[in-house]
Amino acid sequence: MHLPKFEYLHPASVEEVTQLLKEYGLRARLVAGGTDLFPRMKYGLVCPEVLVGLKGIPVKAPTVTQNGELHLDALMSLADVARSPVVLERAPLLKTAASSVGSNQIRHMGTLGGNLCLENRCPSYNQTHTFQFMEPCFKRGGDRCSCPRGRSAGLHSPRIRHQL
Ligand SMILES: Cc1cc2nc3c(=O)[nH]c(=O)nc-3n(C[C@H](O)[C@H](O)[C@H](O)COP(=O)(O)OP(=O)(O)OC[C@H]3O[C@@H](n4cnc5c(N)ncnc54)[C@H](O)[C@@H]3O)c2cc1C
Repeated sequence: MHLPKFEYLHPASVEEVTQLLKEYGLRARLVAGGTDLFPRMKYGLVCPEVLVGLKGIPVKAPTVTQNGELHLDALMSLADVARSPVVLERAPLLKTAASSVGSNQIRHMGTLGGNLCLENRCPSYNQTHTFQFMEPCFKRGGDRCSCPRGRSAGLHSPRIRHQL
């Protein structure tokens, strides 16, 4: 599987990012760690002409405001979220959640912002066309959802299991 062609831009500030998004509109996508976006591009689910990389933007350290709010930069890697003493103290469940994502490599590449903006992860959607055994779901222009209710991964669907 290969990535389709795209232009990669690497702005160094949020202002530059905003300007680029304004300029390219829907032809552009933001990319942080790329652990979600690049596989989707390989599957042909999304094909942006331009990628606006966020890795050149300085990441702010977590802060706690006077009224006790925890502020985290969307560009923090999940590994940094998981090992931050401030997160551990203020939001221990977030630390547990970040620690449980994927593998060590995914946690080092993947960011908090990317995790919040993830596309659906469902075996009937996140596939190449070769593995499209089922009729297209809503997200592929069809008229059904193959994910059973309450199971976002859909792996437990008897239908999917049967067809795999
Ligand atoms: C093998 C594997 C295992 C995984 N396991 C898990 C898991 O257990 N749990 C889980 O939750 N996820 C999992 N993921 C999904 C994903 O990799 C992570 O959730 C990761 O945090 C995504 O972050 P990213 O920076 O790589 O996102 P990217 O791929 O860079 O971006 C994802 C989306 O978010 C948008 N985006 C990124 N950053 C920003 C921003 N700052 N502002 C606005 N939009 C933004 C992008 O445009 C894109 O649409 C897994 C992925 C893989 C490949």
